[in-house]
Amino acid sequence: MSHELKSAQVPLDNSTDLPLWTGDFYNEGTGSSDIFDTLKEECGVFGVFGHSEAASLSYYGLHALQHRGEESCGICVADGKEFNYHRGMGLVKEVFDKDIMATLVGDVSIGHVRYATSGDSRLANAQPLVFKYRDGNLAIATNGNIVNAPQIRRELEEGGSIFQTTSDTEVVAHLIARSSKDVVEAAKDALQRIVGGFAFLIMTNDKLLVASDPHGLRPITMGRLGNSYIFASETCALEVIGAELIRDIQPGELLILDEDGLKEDRFTEPQRKALCAMEYIYFARPDSDLNGSNLHASRKRMGSRMALEAFVDADMVTGVPDSSISAAIGYAEQTGIPYELGLIKNKYTGRTFIQPSQELREQGVKMKLSAVRRVVEGQRVVMIDDSIVRGTTSRRIVNLLREAGATEVHVRITSPPFKNPCFYGIDTPNREDFIAHNKTIDEICQEINADSLAFLSPEGLIGAIGGDNANDHNGGLCLACFNNEYPTTLDFGGEEKGGCGC
Ligand code: SF4
Repeated sequence: MSHELKSAQVPLDNSTDLPLWTGDFYNEGTGSSDIFDTLKEECGVFGVFGHSEAASLSYYGLHALQHRGEESCGICVADGKEFNYHRGMGLVKEVFDKDIMATLVGDVSIGHVRYATSGDSRLANAQPLVFKYRDGNLAIATNGNIVNAPQIRRELEEGGSIFQTTSDTEVVAHLIARSSKDVVEAAKDALQRIVGGFAFLIMTNDKLLVASDPHGLRPITMGRLGNSYIFASETCALEVIGAELIRDIQPGELLILDEDGLKEDRFTEPQRKALCAMEYIYFARPDSDLNGSNLHASRKRMGSRMALEAFVDADMVTGVPDSSISAAIGYAEQTGIPYELGLIKNKYTGRTFIQPSQELREQGVKMKLSAVRRVVEGQRVVMIDDSIVRGTTSRRIVNLLREAGATEVHVRITSPPFKNPCFYGIDTPNREDFIAHNKTIDEICQEINADSLAFLSPEGLIGAIGGDNANDHNGGLCLACFNNEYPTTLDFGGEEKGGCGC
């Protein structure tokens, strides 16, 4: 049977009666005026012990962790005698080139990608932080936030310490440097002093230390590549270099790697496990595994639970890209309503320096997200998203779908309402800026211009995530931004400090 090429009969869309977009310009990365009010990733760390290509492995590992921080990055390598390092502002592929990589010689390395809050985005804060102290060289890379860092910093400054950065990480470096003990004991003392959510990589000329906070708030995982050990914030970074996952670092654990191999120790007893639930909901890549659960599968289960808790009949389901696509597929599978690509994200808007004129804004320049008119026109749409922060983003996306012809837009959020700030490394607004802080679900629904709105219950979230700690308190998760149950003390010493302290 022969096939005949048919001439395309695509009607031109000459419709002139479509409303012009009069909302905001879709953009991101423009600092405090960022109109996409999603939460910001914190940081990502990557460590190698015992591989002659440690720097190259770190490059690929950090590239896989790029979604956790786009502001700056760095790699520091130890060759047994000295450190070779490079840090810069920008993406991994922008900061490192062949010539720089050629200088990073050594078989132990730590690397970092960083997201910084506005005004704090400067090279001095780029990690790994590198110091010279009495016993030689010290490099530190961390992910998270130290709640009592301002207090300790004040004490250290009163005792004569001079800080070069505004990063929490430097507090730990000073605590280690001032100690008269060897680096392992000094690190234990320092880690016992600090309160918060953190994963640390600490490197000297001949040692690599890896630590997780007593609640395991921030993820860090260990893998193996031949005879080398690899450490990463997410398993996707192990996968990309062909390393095999061994296990997650446990709360309060301190691993010591040196010429004697790997020693499993701890700096404190573990406290109740409280891994950040937002890692599952939004931050981590869908191909990563956390605590025994794959992220894509967990998010699909969140969508499926959402359908069981708050079913609404519709013609199609769509997910807000990228993090809500897995959950939308789960909702569609559970209900039999087809999943459709109703929203498209432009992946190349990361940093945009050109601001549009008012005229272009009014013409509807939508740089970051578009609704697919041919898909959503005339349809009743279930729109799945992972969270609502201030509500402005949700309203814009609902309006995008309506403008493209959706007849109904039902919003389903695969997390409970956000009501409390994070003090463990996620950059959140103040309590009163969360839309759910003082509004009912009906009021939020109205504000975001949806036909209906539902949030996943905490029980539904815990059940969907499952994993190794499913039977622990809160399923072994931190849910503080939803339920106000902070796993640590919040003794700020008079200076409340949220967000990311890296
Ligand atoms: S408060 Fe929220 S964002 Fe912060 S660690 Fe806990 S779950 Fe994660």
